[in-house]
Amino acid sequence: MAFEGLSERLQSALKKLRGKGKVNEADVKAVMREVRLALLEADVNFKVVKEFVSRVSERAVGQEVLTSLTPGQQVIKVVNEELTQLMGGTQAKLSLDSKPSVIMMVGLQGAGKTTTSGKLAHHLQKQHKRPFLVAGDVYRPAAIRQLEVLGESIEIPVFSLGDKEDPVKIAEQGVAQAKEEGHDVVIVDTAGRLHVDETMMDELKAIRERVQPDEVLLVVDAMTGQDAVNVAENFNREMNLTGVVLTKLDGDTRGGAALSVKSVTNCPVKFAGMGEKVDALEPFHPERMASRILG
Ligand code: GDP
Repeated sequence: MAFEGLSERLQSALKKLRGKGKVNEADVKAVMREVRLALLEADVNFKVVKEFVSRVSERAVGQEVLTSLTPGQQVIKVVNEELTQLMGGTQAKLSLDSKPSVIMMVGLQGAGKTTTSGKLAHHLQKQHKRPFLVAGDVYRPAAIRQLEVLGESIEIPVFSLGDKEDPVKIAEQGVAQAKEEGHDVVIVDTAGRLHVDETMMDELKAIRERVQPDEVLLVVDAMTGQDAVNVAENFNREMNLTGVVLTKLDGDTRGGAALSVKSVTNCPVKFAGMGEKVDALEPFHPERMASRILG
């Protein structure tokens, strides 16, 4: 299960404070040392860990906490609040004001971009939107067919021109058709590569230029930890992302990506992929995630 190690270690560190009638600075320091190690071991970015520990320590040795009747509980509350802040504080929602709104999906091959495009369409459909999918991944073999099959299963139309056409043209024509047919959200799947490269970025920028998306969502694999954060940094620099989707949070990811992406890139995580099925996509709730980690 995701965050298992982190969860266990944080809980065992904080248990020492729970129910304590008196807490002094040394107690807080000892616990924070363990918290720091737990976060580093979960592959959280070291700068993020440093800032987090210093913020929590500062608040935890404040008068309000040390002189409270339940200081142990107060420290745990501070950790919970700061973990929530680390992940963005409140839930970051999609901004879908244009008609139709365009959501451009970007990411490396294998991250889960095509699957997430289908999941997102399904999610929006449940909110009474009329989504339309555009199959623009001309690079990965079978990606177009994969999206068509997904679209069929959820009864959402998929626009495609095959894999021989220019991806910019595919995106443009797809959006135009969605508009003509009165759809209110267009999700454009794009081509990834195995690594961040210039050809991919140029292609994505050209698509963005042409279709002027309301949202540019990066799909990253949470299992890849710090790599996911580096990928997010790179994409954000080039593409001005509006959000991140963390996939494979149902796996045994240690948690590093979920806890670092927002702080490192300043780009909020908007959704979490929780499985391979089309309904396994959840809006990302920092508060719930923090509580889940702390148990
Ligand atoms: P793309 O190359 O980025 O389009 O990647 P795909 O959408 O084809 O996904 C790659 C693999 O990851 C597929 O086997 C998906 O079923 C799987 N996948 C995608 N999202 C999730 C998720 O949230 N959880 C799990 N367990 N698997 C996922």
